[in-house]
Amino acid sequence: MGRYGSIRATLTAQQSLVCSPLIYFGSAAQKEKYLPLLASGQWLGSYCLTEPGSGSDAGAMQTRAVRDGDNWVLNGQKIFITNATHASLFIVFANTATDPNDRQITAFLVEREWGVATTPLKGKLGLRASDTGTVFLQDVVVPDSNRLGEVGQGFKVALGTLDNGRISLAAAAVGTSQTCVDLTTKYIQERQQFGKPIGQFQMIQDMLADMVVETEASRLLVHKAIVAKYSGQRFTKEASMAKYYATEAANRNAERALQMHGGYGFFEEYEVARLYRDARVYTIYEGTSQVQKLVISSLQTGLKAFV
Ligand SMILES: Cc1cc2nc3c(=O)[nH]c(=O)nc-3n(C[C@H](O)[C@H](O)[C@H](O)COP(=O)(O)OP(=O)(O)OC[C@H]3O[C@@H](n4cnc5c(N)ncnc54)[C@H](O)[C@@H]3O)c2cc1C
Repeated sequence: MGRYGSIRATLTAQQSLVCSPLIYFGSAAQKEKYLPLLASGQWLGSYCLTEPGSGSDAGAMQTRAVRDGDNWVLNGQKIFITNATHASLFIVFANTATDPNDRQITAFLVEREWGVATTPLKGKLGLRASDTGTVFLQDVVVPDSNRLGEVGQGFKVALGTLDNGRISLAAAAVGTSQTCVDLTTKYIQERQQFGKPIGQFQMIQDMLADMVVETEASRLLVHKAIVAKYSGQRFTKEASMAKYYATEAANRNAERALQMHGGYGFFEEYEVARLYRDARVYTIYEGTSQVQKLVISSLQTGLKAFV
């Protein structure tokens, strides 16, 4: 799916950011109610962590959930949310600490019809066929039975979800890189300058060789992360390494592919232009490259990076 970033974004928000936490942290009743609707595509889901004032520092979120008997009352705003405009179900992370200066993050399954309002965000550089929106929660009443995981375990839900999501995104980046290799290999065999295919020029060969090697290295890091995941061990570091390397490599490869297509690559008629735009967000969402490096280094040293 990595060749078609917008479709992948729509599907991955559904599968890896909404269905996965439901499977890992949901109650039997929650799974029974929501998974068939999501799996059949009758409902779209959204994962709502980011806020206008809190991105990398997600724990600084301002969205609040206050207990009211058997219910919770949610107030706040989320931004940059994939599928927001069309979603029927939102996984919302909110601070449930009694003192708002404390951080106690809890996750909730919130249905749109309980009063969630959304607006689409327009003007993205890439992923233009994927919906991204803002989510508004004003006195939205959520039953306690729709709490996802324990009170105060929201960060465990959020970060556990992102470990999975980062492998998926790294795999998408491999798809982007491989498409760039395939399109460019064909183009430089056919495009002639100075009386020969441009693929015979050493500087072109140099760029293609880097693309091929970095694509394979990305693929192997994804495989390593998948093996770590299914071996039952914690795979946070492997997921971050794969996400960091593969998404940075996809950007380098899209840039090289466009360069080797010359002026033609600058036009939308050639797929490399869209791949270049779509890849740009890969080093930003689901944790920026800088955040991945902090995760990798802090797990390597045992020293906390997020203080
Ligand atoms: C198209 C798109 C779709 C998205 N979909 C979703 C979604 O479905 N759900 C969701 O919850 N979010 C979503 N996001 C949000 C995305 O996850 C955030 O944009 C991302 O986490 C970065 O947060 P920020 O934009 O606030 O940047 P900031 O956190 O403000 O970061 C700005 C810069 O500062 C750097 N930085 C921050 N902290 C540090 C540090 N400690 N050390 C070094 N550098 C640092 C960052 O790496 C970055 O370069 C989406 C974003 C986009 C663009």
